[in-house]
Amino acid sequence: MSGKIEILNLIENEKQEIISFFQEFVQAASPNPPGDTRIAASVISKLLEKHKMPFRWVAPQKTMPNIVGSIKGSKPGRHLVLNGHIDVFPVSDNFLEEGWITPPWSGEIIEDKIYGRGSTDMKCGTSASIWTYIILNKFRTKFSGKLTLTCVSDEETFGPWGSRWLIENEPEVLGDCCLNGEPSSPYTIRYGEKGLLWLTFKVQTNGSHGAYTHLSKSATLVATNLIQELKSLETLDAEIPSELLKAQHNSAAAFDQGMGAGAASIAPKVTLNIGKISGGLKNNMVPSECSFEADIRLPVGCNLDKILNSIDEISKKFPEASMEQNMLNPPSHCNPDGDMMQILKSNVQDLRGFQPEPVVSLGGTDARLWRYKNIPAYVYGPTPTGMGSTNENVPIDDYLHLVKTHALSAYDYLAN
Ligand SMILES: [Zn+2]
Repeated sequence: MSGKIEILNLIENEKQEIISFFQEFVQAASPNPPGDTRIAASVISKLLEKHKMPFRWVAPQKTMPNIVGSIKGSKPGRHLVLNGHIDVFPVSDNFLEEGWITPPWSGEIIEDKIYGRGSTDMKCGTSASIWTYIILNKFRTKFSGKLTLTCVSDEETFGPWGSRWLIENEPEVLGDCCLNGEPSSPYTIRYGEKGLLWLTFKVQTNGSHGAYTHLSKSATLVATNLIQELKSLETLDAEIPSELLKAQHNSAAAFDQGMGAGAASIAPKVTLNIGKISGGLKNNMVPSECSFEADIRLPVGCNLDKILNSIDEISKKFPEASMEQNMLNPPSHCNPDGDMMQILKSNVQDLRGFQPEPVVSLGGTDARLWRYKNIPAYVYGPTPTGMGSTNENVPIDDYLHLVKTHALSAYDYLAN
């Protein structure tokens, strides 16, 4: 029997345990903030111990442990790294009023879907990585090289204690390729992601009585004019190389199918979101202060210097405003037609009868950190139903599809 058929049989036979683990992992609440993942990490440890897998906790911050383990095949070869995060978005105390049909940490199965905060982002994908690690261990004589599992904390807030720390301090996690199960939808595989730039603007004027508008500029009106100017960044030519534009154009239909209509049209553009704004004290006063935070997303392959210069130019037009950069994660990408991309496509074709399309991600993932080190990193995960919102859930069939796709693809990448 071929190794791949044995892997599929094994997943079928162990299906109940594979599903129960995912439920238990969702039940182990790990909202970030505050980002304490010790209980959820213990659930992973318990499973790895049960299956006698090598692993260790790497906890530069003790409430935010990372789990790292490696296995070797029968002879030297390529090194594949599996990466997923343990922390998840937080959830409001008023979850019932917000429309959750089950408590957010229940891990309950309703109509063949597993519900809970963090189910799609990304305990489904992280579970697929963990099971891939356990399953491949049973086939060590049939593959070469090395497989490393990294389950990390501190991802949701772009914190320093997870993948970033591992990449800088544990060279074992670098490898030749990274596979990650962040939400992508079964129809797309991500080879790159947009960058992000977070800026805080503060506008200060003298202020005055609300009837004496001739005495002072209004800080809130200056801020709204500044925001309108920043909006013009969305039409800026970001000078993306034609081959990247072509790859994005070719996958537009699949991208819209997975991410909602309109996703493909904003992928190659700068986008602006004003996530927070506050200003003024009282309706009959001309405000002397207004501050806002801009969340600017940067397209893959863009001319970053050109965009940063444009922002500086806009800011200079408003002497009442000061600007502070809070975060800059440049966009990242690897080969849209790389080895792991082809392996993933071929396995999904065999399992589901269609080929997922190579796309870029609108949001940020830890996969970028491998790409920053020139290591190809690909993301294939579930549909992001309810991600960061209510009733987050993953169909059981999609979860099992992901476990199969990741295990078969890891096997193909490392096969003798
Ligand atoms: Zn995520």
